[in-house]
Order: sequence, then structure tokens, then C-alpha cells
Amino acid sequence: MMSVMSDQQSNPLLADARLPPFDAIDAGHVIEAVTRALADARAALGQVLAVEGEPTWESLVLPLERMGERLDHIWSSVRHLHAVMDSAPLREAYEACVPLVTRFHTELSQNIELYEAYEAFVRGGDYAVRDAAGKRVVDNALRDFRLGGVGLEGKARDRYAAIATRLSDLTTHFSNNVLDATQSWTLTLADEGRLDGLPASARSLAAHNAEQAGETGYRITLDLPCYLPVLTFADDADLRAECYRAYATRASDQGPDAGRFDNGPVLEEILSLRQDKARLLGFESYAHYSLERKMARTPREVLGFLRDLAARTRPVAHAEYQALCAFAHARHGKQQVEAWDLGYFAEKLKQQRFEISQEDLRPYFPVERVIGGMFDIAERLFGVRIHPRNDVAVWHPDVTFYVITDPEGDRLGELYLDPFARAHKRGGAWMDVCRTRMRLDDSLQTPVAYLTCNFTPPVGGASSLITHDEVTTLFHEFGHGLHHLLTRVELPSVAGIAGVEWDAVELPSQLMENWCYEEEAVALISSHHETGEPLPAPLLSRLRASRNFQSGLQMLRQVEFAMFDFLLHLEYAPGCDVLALLERVRDEVAVVRPPAFNRFANTFSHIFAGGYAAGYYSYKWAEVLSCDAYSRFQEAGVLDTDAGTAFRREVLERGGTRDALESFIAFRGREPDVAALLVSSGIEPRAETSPA
Ligand code: ZN
Repeated sequence: MMSVMSDQQSNPLLADARLPPFDAIDAGHVIEAVTRALADARAALGQVLAVEGEPTWESLVLPLERMGERLDHIWSSVRHLHAVMDSAPLREAYEACVPLVTRFHTELSQNIELYEAYEAFVRGGDYAVRDAAGKRVVDNALRDFRLGGVGLEGKARDRYAAIATRLSDLTTHFSNNVLDATQSWTLTLADEGRLDGLPASARSLAAHNAEQAGETGYRITLDLPCYLPVLTFADDADLRAECYRAYATRASDQGPDAGRFDNGPVLEEILSLRQDKARLLGFESYAHYSLERKMARTPREVLGFLRDLAARTRPVAHAEYQALCAFAHARHGKQQVEAWDLGYFAEKLKQQRFEISQEDLRPYFPVERVIGGMFDIAERLFGVRIHPRNDVAVWHPDVTFYVITDPEGDRLGELYLDPFARAHKRGGAWMDVCRTRMRLDDSLQTPVAYLTCNFTPPVGGASSLITHDEVTTLFHEFGHGLHHLLTRVELPSVAGIAGVEWDAVELPSQLMENWCYEEEAVALISSHHETGEPLPAPLLSRLRASRNFQSGLQMLRQVEFAMFDFLLHLEYAPGCDVLALLERVRDEVAVVRPPAFNRFANTFSHIFAGGYAAGYYSYKWAEVLSCDAYSRFQEAGVLDTDAGTAFRREVLERGGTRDALESFIAFRGREPDVAALLVSSGIEPRAETSPA
């Protein structure tokens, strides 16, 4: 069928489709679409500000909610493609647009006229009659105006705008350095000689990598599905050391690529600009600024929380480390355990103690079975239905699309799942927003999510078998997805994960991980790829027993990262010695010290290129919430529909319309308790239940 198309229609990003037309979008569309979307947003803003008289909900708040969502329609597709299908033209177009989008958001957050319109709205009669969600939208907007520097004038104002633009460039640069440094190093081995100890799956991945690169033999890369098995299983200590050195020095002044993608100067400039920004806004530090959007109230409360966790964990972690060293010495004659030996001996000790390894579990977890079982669990717990759809355009053949409905068949939301690692795809796992639930004049826009993982890809036509760790990662991201997709809120800025305090936003994701260890749930997600048998009971009980293996050391590692991040943003001063600060944190917290060449901060994307600056502690903070919330399921039965329904009602559906603490109490009936995390990690014993 032929039709005459305008420019707008010929650019698929501008087609205003319900779902992004991924089969039609290419890098050449990006700049035009983003420029047009920004112009439309500015026009919409102009209309809002042109309205005379007292601003109302319909003249001010709703149009702005829609404007933000409309812009994100286009921008989220571009951002997503840049993350999962990176190419030189796309990266160039994306990088050209990032400053434009940032500038728009900065202008918006500094628009005094708009700020005054919100203030006038609060003074007027309309605010008082809004429901909690509506009030929250306006309260958050006013808070964000203040944090966005609306009160700044003259030079301070220009300075603020310059900082925002520069910071946005720097964080993109930081990410690109990490990606490039990760991809630039490879090690090709001509034969299997040095691969002793490595499981078959890791060998075939390395062989596959070599083949893809047009080489023969085995190619080791720094992508986690390839790198981790080497550090965990390779008997050749020199091989482990070589890979560790390359990995731990990525994007730094050390190691095989020293100075090539160095993030050292990048992260220092980021820290310095963040501090300038916080000071411009009248905060003592960037840490203080960061807490404005968090559940924790003061730096003292955060540091107190972390120090308490460290102190209660240290004795356990110390004993775990002693046990590891004694084992390496007794069984392997090792006098000194190096950084690249830790994972290797830990795996051996774990196997000896629990007779279990991630590799033993892999055959029971074909990825299709895990996904199907996970959906089954969500259906039982939350009363939803999930079905695949094959007629939706996706960006890569690995991607599947699913629809979530209520039992009556009404659509609640939709989901793209992109499970496997591949070239030009950012590492790690995450959930991102494609569409947010929103009431339109004559219809309801339902939410859409992207779930991205980097699991071991299927090799040679066989089904992909994933490790139990990967299963847990999938459940985690799906938890974020459910939070976004099951929301009942129809205002995008407080729907789903939007507007939720940062340190509470991991509650649903961390909660979901718990089902990966429950007998009833594992029966649904496991099925041996040859026999179809679910994970046998003895293996599951060993898996459960091994869950808290070295949990003290792991806890301290996370506390070390969290305290480093927080103090860095609390105490930063020009010329601050980042490595010295890290050493000081380790003096206080760590039981194990990495080698001096380790430059983990240079790839700490969570805090330098993600949203976790002065907020990495959020993982542990939210884990207290998730462990304590999960105890209700343990008491009621892990597939208990009432508990599931209550969680859906009180947490998942509420989004950011009320304080996270309020949602938690509504679900659990009381405030959260730190002990829940320590007990669940096996660091502290379960308290005796007192007689009723
Ligand atoms: Zn998460």
C-alpha cells in the first residue's frame, strides 16, 4: 500500500506508535526525532505558561506530566538502543543528543515562571482537593525545582547549567571508557592446554568467541560470562592472575591498557563538579544533596547504618577468611592467597563443604524453563497472567515480548526481554522504562518495560543453560519490572518506580530473589535439559545451605563500596586523594585487601555513570526492607496469595505516591528491622520466638 508520507511520518521514532517500531528505527533517525521532540516539548511548555489566571490541575500539572512522557517515548528508545545495539553511527547520534536533552531538563528545572506557577497552584484551591498522588506530583516538582537550581541567579545560574551539561558528557564518557576497556583486552589461547578446571560451557564460550573473531582456539574476554568462570575454575594460577590484572585495571593508569581509557581524571572531575553543584544549591556536600530524594534522612544515619552492619559482620567475615586460607594451605599447599585465588579457592571450599557448584546446577536451568516458571510464580502470587507475543517488532532475534493481563484479560503492561550477552551490548542486567502508565483523554496508556540481561548465550543450537546466580539476577530485574508494570498510578512522575525514594526502590527486586531458593518455586523454574527432572531435593538443600557461604565477606565488600561512595561524596575536597580515602575505608571495614594495582573505582559505573552517587548504600538499606518483607511470606507460605496480593496492593501498585516507609508498614504491619538482613544472611542467629 502506498501513501504520501510527511517527514514526520517517515521517521519511525516520531510516528507516535504505542510501541517503538524497532524494525524501522536506525541511527539516521535519531537526531531529527530528538530535536523535533524537544521542540514539541518546548511548544507544550510555552502553551502551559501562556495560560492566564490561576493555574489549575488541567492547565498546569497534567500537560506537564504528558509532556515529560511524550519526550521519553522517543528518548527512551534511543537510550535503550544505544545500550543494547551500540554502533558507531548510533553512538555518535546519541552523544550528539545527550547534551540537548540535558539542556532541556536543566532549563525546565530552572524555569522560574514554571516554578512560580507550581507555587501559585499550591496556594490556590485546586491543590487542597487533589488526592495523595496528585499532591505528591506537585510536592516532588517543587522539591526538584529547588534541587535543580531554580533559585539561582546570574553567574551562579550559568555555572549550574554548565555543570549539568559537563557532568552529562563526563558520565557518558565514563561509561564508554568502561565498555571500550572491557572490549579491548582479549587473550587467545591456541589450544586447551591452559584451560584445565574450566567447565565445558566456559570452554565452548571461549571457542565461540574465537570463532566470532575469525581466530582458532579459545578467546578469553573480560565480559563476565567469560571472565568469571576463568577466575572461579581455571587451575592455572598465572592465567587467573593475568585475567584478574586486566579486569581490575580496566579504564585506569594501570595494567595492560594503562592510560588508554583512563577514567581517573574523568571521575575526579565528576566528583569536583558534583560538589560545586551541591554547594551552589546550598548543601554542605553532594551526599547531603543526594539524601533529599532518599528514605534515609542524614549522612549520620547512613554512616551509622553502614558502621553497625560492618561491626556486626566483621567477626563472621574474619572467621570465613581464616577458613579459606586454612583450606588453601591444607589442601593446596598455598602459603598466601592472592586476589585472583579468592574466587578459585572459595569455589573449591564451597564444593567440598556443600558438594555444589554453579556448574552442577546449570543443566537444571534452561533459560526458557526459568522464564516460564518465573512468570508462573508471579501469576500465582500477584493474580496476573503473562503471555508471549510474536508479532511485535524487536531489535534483535534474541528478544521476546510478553503481555501481562489481569485474569479477565485486560492488559496491565508489556515487557521486552533481552536475555543474552553479545557484542556491542552493555554488560550487566537492568530494567528500563519504555512507556509509563498514564491516563489520556480517551484511553489509558499501559506501561512497558525493558528487561536486559547478559546471560550465557545458547551455543551451537542447544538451549541456553544458565547458572543459579543468573536465575537470581533475572528474578531481581523482573522485580523491578513488576514494580513498573503493576502500578495503578496514572501520573508518570509517581507511577511504578518513579518518585520512589532511591534507597527503597530495590525492595521489590531484592524480594523476588528469595523465590529462587524455595522448594515450591524451584519446582516451577527448574527442569533438567536432558531428563526434564526438576532440581533434586538433596541438591536444593545443599544450594540453600550454600546460599550464605561467605556472606560475611560479601556483606563487608558491599559495605566497603557503600562507605567509599558515601564518604567520597561527603568529604570530597579539591585534590582529594581517592585511593587514600579508599584505603581508609578498608582500614575500617575490610578483612581482605586487593592488590595495590587494583583500580575498581575506575569502573564503578553505579556511582560515576549511574544514579547511585552517594547512594550505593541503598542496596543494603533496601535489603533490610526486602528481608523483613519476605519474612511475611515465610510465615504465611511462600506462594501465599494473600501475602502476594497485599504486596501488590501496598507496594507494587503505589509507586511513589507515598513514603516508602508508609508502604512498608502497610504491608508488614510495623517498621523494618536491621536484624532481618543479618539473620537472613546467616550472620546473626534467628531470634527465639517469644511465647505468645
Ligand atoms: Zn536492582
